[in-house]
Amino acid sequence: MKIIKTPAQFKKVKKVTVTFLKNKTIGFVPTMGALHDGHLSLVRRSLKENDFTAVSIFVNPVQFNDKKDFNNYPNTLKQDIAKLKKANVDFLFLPRFKDIYPDKYRYRIIENSLSRLLCGAFRPGHFDGVLTIVMKLFNIIGADRAYFGEKDYQQYMLVKDMAEAFFHKTAVIGCPTAREKDGLAISSRNLRLSPEQRKIAPELYRILKSAKNEKEAVSLLRKKGFSPEYVEEMSGRRLAAAWLGKVRLIDNVKIR
Ligand code: AMP
Repeated sequence: MKIIKTPAQFKKVKKVTVTFLKNKTIGFVPTMGALHDGHLSLVRRSLKENDFTAVSIFVNPVQFNDKKDFNNYPNTLKQDIAKLKKANVDFLFLPRFKDIYPDKYRYRIIENSLSRLLCGAFRPGHFDGVLTIVMKLFNIIGADRAYFGEKDYQQYMLVKDMAEAFFHKTAVIGCPTAREKDGLAISSRNLRLSPEQRKIAPELYRILKSAKNEKEAVSLLRKKGFSPEYVEEMSGRRLAAAWLGKVRLIDNVKIR
């Protein structure tokens, strides 16, 4: 696995590998690190569908509306590198802020509709930050396919629509949510739950699947001890964000 730190270096390495070999495809999995089985399911899909796979690890400061969250974001780089090497990833892109934001975020992608709803209504500016970093990474990597988790369904929809709106060559592919045995969507945040909260957490998924409607889901979540931010149905999905103590969990299910 080649570890690459700057956009210029990535371009050079790609030229002598992917481009040099002609008609080879490259798949891309953008992440913020602290890798778990959810991320690795995306990586495996990319490895299966492409000749080369690139993964990026970059904790994108401009998408955090709470600075504390950014400063406390887990860093497990050593373990992440070992996991990616073991999975047979070809390129790990590990840029620094100044390499990715030479403009210091003067330029940004703003979406004016879906990004204001659901999670966007509670996290102003979050999706502008997400879409901007994804566009930058898409332009640097120039992948044929990019893989996003359905766990962050709103993010997946926004990125897919953006790639289409800007006629980007990268196809955006949604991958099913990887779950723990009890149904809880895998997330690095789960480690911040207390043992009691961890026992309650899978109820989010269970209630989203079984509730008759959004109102019932909100009431059942409250009964279990969650503080729901929203439960809404959109594009054939029921999506929710809810707090358990100080931990914000999100999940979504297909509506039957
Ligand atoms: P993050 O590092 O949290 O920015 O996530 C990077 C990518 O991994 C995003 O496309 C996420 O949707 C995806 N992802 C995170 N957790 C899961 C999961 N449990 N199942 C599937 N994909 C996931």
